[in-house]
Amino acid sequence: MNKALFLDRDGTLIYDRNYLSTPDEVELIPGVSEGLSIALQMKCRLFLFTNQSGVGRNYFSMDDVNRIHERMEQLIGLRIPLFDDVCIAVETPDDPQVYRKPSPKFILEMIGKHHLDPTQCYMVGDTQSDILSAVNAGITPIAVMTGKGDDPHIFPEVARHNVRVFPDLRAFTSQL
Ligand SMILES: [Mg+2]
Repeated sequence: MNKALFLDRDGTLIYDRNYLSTPDEVELIPGVSEGLSIALQMKCRLFLFTNQSGVGRNYFSMDDVNRIHERMEQLIGLRIPLFDDVCIAVETPDDPQVYRKPSPKFILEMIGKHHLDPTQCYMVGDTQSDILSAVNAGITPIAVMTGKGDDPHIFPEVARHNVRVFPDLRAFTSQL
């Protein structure tokens, strides 16, 4: 069965700007296009999985998020739409937690909806919540070091769950 990659957005595909709200501020992390191109050549399924509490806080709207994703896909320059499905968790940390990472709910729903094999699924991200959403869903977590590097909780989780760490997305997909 084809592999499936669940991809965090901020700090994994594009630079992490706090509460990114306009397409003008979208900047790809180097190697992302090439890394995703490799994944597509390998017939990987691609899913975006991003926490956007700025929507829940009314800092920006879902229309803003969609415009940012359109810009990101343009910059990546591969197929459009790029993703088989897009998972956007809009809750704030103070809301009842349903979809927000580290919840596994989006991943589990995508596994069911798209008939994915959990043993062939990876969640790639730069923070503790990415790793834990993968662990909670029973899929393989992958850590990349392209985020802001300010999540002090990621390394204990990396050690606890034997998470493989890569310098960036391209380094991960190159060895799939
Ligand atoms: Mg991130």
